[in-house]
Amino acid sequence: PLLEPEAKPEERSQQEERLRPRRLSEYIGQKDLKEVLDIAIQAAKVRQETLDHLLLYGPPGLGKTTLSLILAEEMGVGCKMTTAPALERPRDIAGLLMGLQPGDVLFIDEIHRLPKVTEEILYAAMEDFRLDVTLGKGSSARTRSLPLKHFTLVGATTRVGALTSPLRDRFGLIQRLRFYELDELLQIVLRTAGILKMPVTDEGATEIARRSRGTPRIANRLLKRVRDYVQVKELGELTEAIAAEALERYNIDPLGLDWTDRRLLTVMIENFNGGPVGLETIAAATGEDAQTIEEVYEPYLLQIGYLNRTPRGRIATAAAWKHLGYTPPDSQLS
Ligand code: ATP
Repeated sequence: PLLEPEAKPEERSQQEERLRPRRLSEYIGQKDLKEVLDIAIQAAKVRQETLDHLLLYGPPGLGKTTLSLILAEEMGVGCKMTTAPALERPRDIAGLLMGLQPGDVLFIDEIHRLPKVTEEILYAAMEDFRLDVTLGKGSSARTRSLPLKHFTLVGATTRVGALTSPLRDRFGLIQRLRFYELDELLQIVLRTAGILKMPVTDEGATEIARRSRGTPRIANRLLKRVRDYVQVKELGELTEAIAAEALERYNIDPLGLDWTDRRLLTVMIENFNGGPVGLETIAAATGEDAQTIEEVYEPYLLQIGYLNRTPRGRIATAAAWKHLGYTPPDSQLS
């Protein structure tokens, strides 16, 4: 569970909020995305307009919520946060929209999960800043339009392909978040250690960065667990050896693979001789949801070169075989 990219309830706490960068300049990595947003912010400010609606997609824990708060901060407006499953009834979304102040950012997490009725209300709200409400029922039903304050919708999703096209088309900017490089994760670990007032060497921080699965949320989580270890054992400074020792105790893979990553690869190797094997077959054999495999687990395994996608199915690469302690078949070595 230490390596799960999703947030745990305690990670939604106030103490955790201290770890979030507040300004775009403090936000580490995602260089291309930052440039795009910087220009959009400056242009909106010059024109004294609200920012275009923005769709952020990518695996969990990479900083979508953080970016949305930063956008509001940079624009000098408020940010209202919600998640699609909380917007079940039309009145849920209508209430939120009516409560927005001019220019506010409205952040909707898991936006691919919006129910159809609420999604349709968003269309007019996003396009014309208008709220269409139906009053009454049956033959006496009437539609009324109420004007809304201009606002910026920031949608976040792990599954951009699951958005309907009318919703996707209403976003002016659609941007992907990438996994973080080792040097970026290192900066994140050092920054968090500074906030937590925790003495750490560069090598110690690198050891944590390496095992963080390209994900800032995991980097921060591992750092906190290692801090517990250092404090309880009264070790003082966090060095490479101490980080490695602590993370081994917590069963953290040297490359940061989590239980599910390892299980997916192991099943592919043991049951299917490394593939090619279809996504649905892997899902059935592991009991995991196919879409979750595709959107949460595969991107990282592809990135580190442990998995290949081919037209005939997924293949576990020779590197994956070796990492898990298997000897790759000759066909894999050629
Ligand atoms: P989810 O979609 O699962 O909610 P998310 O993509 O919204 O995840 P965040 O909550 O924004 O992820 O980020 C997780 C944590 O990682 C934050 O608490 C923040 O401290 C840290 N973080 C994220 N991105 C960065 C960054 N670029 N620089 C520094 N810290 C970051």
